[in-house]
Amino acid sequence: MALLIVAPKKDVTEWVEGVREASRDIDVRVWPASGDPDDIEVALVWNHPEGSLTQFRNLQLISSMGAGIDHVLKDQQLPKNVPVTRVVGESLTTNMSNYIMMAVLQYHKRFLKYLSDKENKQWNQNHAPEIPVSIGILGLGVLGQDVAKKLSDLGFNVCGYSNSRKELPGVRSYAGDEELDEFLSHVNILVCLLPLTSKTENFLNLDLFKKMKKGSYLINVARGNHLVEEDLLEALRLKMLSGAFLDVFRKEPLPRNHPFWEHPDIMMTPHIASITNIEDAIPLIVENYNRVIKGKPLLNEVDMKREY
Ligand code: NAP
Repeated sequence: MALLIVAPKKDVTEWVEGVREASRDIDVRVWPASGDPDDIEVALVWNHPEGSLTQFRNLQLISSMGAGIDHVLKDQQLPKNVPVTRVVGESLTTNMSNYIMMAVLQYHKRFLKYLSDKENKQWNQNHAPEIPVSIGILGLGVLGQDVAKKLSDLGFNVCGYSNSRKELPGVRSYAGDEELDEFLSHVNILVCLLPLTSKTENFLNLDLFKKMKKGSYLINVARGNHLVEEDLLEALRLKMLSGAFLDVFRKEPLPRNHPFWEHPDIMMTPHIASITNIEDAIPLIVENYNRVIKGKPLLNEVDMKREY
C-alpha cells in the first residue's frame, strides 16, 4: 500500500517529509514516479493532470491538499466511487477569517482614501471616518460560519446565505433560492465563501449585483470562477458597486494585461487569503490513510452529489 502525491505545480518536499515523519509505515511516492500502480491506494492531489488517476485500480481515497475540491472534480476521468476528502483546519479557518476582517475593516474605515491622502500630503477630515456596513456571507460552511460569528462579535450587522438554514447567534440566516433576493437586499458588503460547483459557477454576476444596495462592496475569497469578471467591471462603471477586494481569479496568475491590475477600485492579493498549513493538514491525511486501512468512516468526506 502506498500514498502518491500528485501535484505537478507544487514543491511537495515539505509534504513528503511531513507524512514520512508522521508515520514511518507510509510508503510515500511522488507522481510521476509512482512505481507499481497497483500499490497506490491513496492519492494526495492538487491540480492533478486530467486522467492521471485512472491507472491506479486499487485507489481507495483521493485527498485534496486544500479546502476546495473543485480542482479534483474538474477531472472528467476521475475514478468513480472513490471517496474524496478535503482539508478542514483551525489555522486555515482563522487565517481566512482574519483576511476577510481585514478586507471589511479597510473598507469600513476608508483606508484607501487615507492612503491616497497620505500620498498627496493631504490632511482631510472632511468625510465621515466610517462607512456603515451590513455584511452578507455567501456560504455558511466551516469558513463562513467562523467569520460570520467574528464579524458579529465586532459589532457588525451580519447575515448569511446557504443551502440549509443555520442557527448562529447574532447572524441572520437565509436559505435556498427563494430567500436569495431578500438576503441580498439587506447587505452592502458581500463576501463570497461558496464552494465552486456547477450551481455556483458565475454566481457573482450583474443580475446579482443589481439586487444589492447601490454602491455595495464585493469580497471574493472563494474561487475565480464564481465571478463574471466583465460584469464586475461593468457594475463598477455604473457605480452599482463601489469596489471589490479579490483574492481569486478565473486565470491564475492573473495575466499582466488584465484590467483588474490598474482598476482604482479593485484591491487584489494573489490567492493567499488562507493557504493550507501543512502541519495542520498532515495529521488529517495520516488519520484518513489509517481509516482506509481499517475500513473506518473518513474525516471531511465530500458529498459527490452536492459537489462540496
Ligand atoms: P463548506 O464547509 O463546504 O461550506 C460551503 C457552504 O456553501 C455551505 O454553507 C453550503 O450550504 C453553501 N452552499 C453550497 N452551495 C450552495 C448554493 N448553491 N447555494 C447556497 N449555498 C450554497 O466550505 P468551506 O470550508 O467553508 O470553504 C468554502 C470555499 O472557500 C472552498 O470551497 C474554497 O473554494 C474556498 N477557499 C479559498 C481559500 C483562499 O485562500 N482563497 C482558502 C480556503 C478555501 P449548506 O451549509 O447548507 O450545505
